[in-house]
Amino acid sequence: MYDVIISGAGPAGSKCAEVVAKAGYKVALIEKDINYRKPCGGGLPRTSLFKYYPQLKKVDFHKINGTAIFSEDYHKVRHVYENLKVNPITVDRLKFDNLIRNIALDAGAELFDKHTSVDFVQKEGKKIGVRTKTSEGYKDFLGKIIIVADGMSSKLAPRSGLRGKWKIENLGLGRAAILEGKYSLEKNLAYFFFKKYGYSWIFPLSETTFNIGSITYFENNLKYNVQSLFKRFLVDVQNRGFLTEASYKEIWSGSFPEPACGVLDRNLCGDNIILIGDAGGFVAPINGEGVHGAIVSGDIAGKTSINALKKEDFTYNSLKAFRKDPYIKKIIRNFKLQRGFVDFFYENEGENLNKLFKLAEEDEKYNLDVINTFILGRTPPKDFFTRVKNS
Ligand SMILES: Cc1cc2nc3c(=O)[nH]c(=O)nc-3n(C[C@H](O)[C@H](O)[C@H](O)COP(=O)(O)OP(=O)(O)OC[C@H]3O[C@@H](n4cnc5c(N)ncnc54)[C@H](O)[C@@H]3O)c2cc1C
Repeated sequence: MYDVIISGAGPAGSKCAEVVAKAGYKVALIEKDINYRKPCGGGLPRTSLFKYYPQLKKVDFHKINGTAIFSEDYHKVRHVYENLKVNPITVDRLKFDNLIRNIALDAGAELFDKHTSVDFVQKEGKKIGVRTKTSEGYKDFLGKIIIVADGMSSKLAPRSGLRGKWKIENLGLGRAAILEGKYSLEKNLAYFFFKKYGYSWIFPLSETTFNIGSITYFENNLKYNVQSLFKRFLVDVQNRGFLTEASYKEIWSGSFPEPACGVLDRNLCGDNIILIGDAGGFVAPINGEGVHGAIVSGDIAGKTSINALKKEDFTYNSLKAFRKDPYIKKIIRNFKLQRGFVDFFYENEGENLNKLFKLAEEDEKYNLDVINTFILGRTPPKDFFTRVKNS
C-alpha cells in the first residue's frame, strides 16, 4: 500500500514524487521506459526552473542568452537578455528527464521501470490503485492518492472520468529531431519561426548539435501534414543559409502531440485523483512550452497530497486545493488569454503575425513586447493588438 502512486516519471511525475517522498511518505513512481526520449524541443526559457531545481545550476547545460523570432515572410525580432543571473537552457530530454527522475529517487521515491499503466484498480466503484503491464504480466499497485502524470498518451486520464480524450483540433502535432553538423546560427540564441500552420524552431544544443522541429496547431492539424512541413522547413533553412551542410547526421527524431487548448480546470481532480502536466493540459498555447507547467503542477500536486495525507482526507473536497492554488489559477487564466491571442495571430493565414513582426522590426519597445508575449508568455499591453489591426 502506497501513500501516493504516480503514473509517469516525466517532469510532472518526477517533481511530484520528489516533493511527497521528501516529506517521508511512501511513493510508487511508475514509468513505462526510462530510456524513452520525449519528443520535445528541449527549450527551457524560464530561469525559474532553477528555483525548483537549484541542484541543476551546477550541470553543464547549453546556455541561451536571447532569442531570434521570424515571421512567415521573414521579418525578424532579435533580443538578447540583459543582466541575467542564470541563463535559460536547452536540453536533451533523455538526459534532463533522467536527472530530475534521479532527484526524486534520491528523495526516497520507488521507481517501477518497464511498467505501463493500463487502467485503475477498482473496488466497490472506487479507484484504489493502478494496474500496470510488465513483461511478466499485470501488476497492481494500491494507494491512497493517484497522480496521473503520464502525458498526452495517458490511458488513465480518459478512464478517470474527469475528462474525455483530447480532440485533434485541441492539439499541437509536432515533429522534432536532434541533428549533428555545422550550422550558421548564433549558438546562444533560441530560434523560432512562426508560420501560418503553427511554428518551427531551431534550438542549438552545442557547437555542432541542435534540436529542430515543426508543430501544427488546432484546425491546421487537419489541413497540413507535419512530417512534410518538417522536411520543407529543413530545406528552407538550408537554402537560407542558417544550416550550412547539405545533409546532417540524425542523432534522434520523433513525433508527438501536445495538448494546446489550455487546462480544463474543472477536470483536474476528483476523489483521490489529480491530473498534472500534459495529462492535465499544462502547456502554454502560445509557444507550446510545457515543461514549466509540468514541474509547477507536479510541485503543487505534491504539496496538496501531503496536506491530504496529514488530514487523511483524499476526497475531491480535500484535493480541490490543487485547482484552487493561486499559481495554478494564474496559469489557467494566462492560458485562457493566450488561447485568444493565438486565434488572432493565425487569422488570415498568419497575416497578423507578419504585420506584428514588421512592427517589431521598426519599434524597439514593441520588439520587447513581442519577446515577452511569445517567449515568456506574459500578457501584452492593450495597444499590442490594435497596432496590428491598424497597420
Ligand atoms: C514536438 C514537441 C516539442 C515540444 N517542445 C517543448 C519545448 O521546447 N519546451 C517546453 O517546455 N515544452 C515543449 N513541449 C511540451 C513538453 O514536451 C511537455 O509539455 C512536457 O514533456 C510535459 O511533461 P509531463 O511530465 O507532463 O509529460 P511527459 O514529458 O510526456 O512525461 C510522461 C512520462 O510518462 C511516461 N508514460 C507515458 N505513458 C505511460 C504509461 N501508460 N504508463 C507509465 N508511464 C507512461 C512516459 O514515458 C514519460 O516518461 C513540446 C512538445 C512536443 C510534442
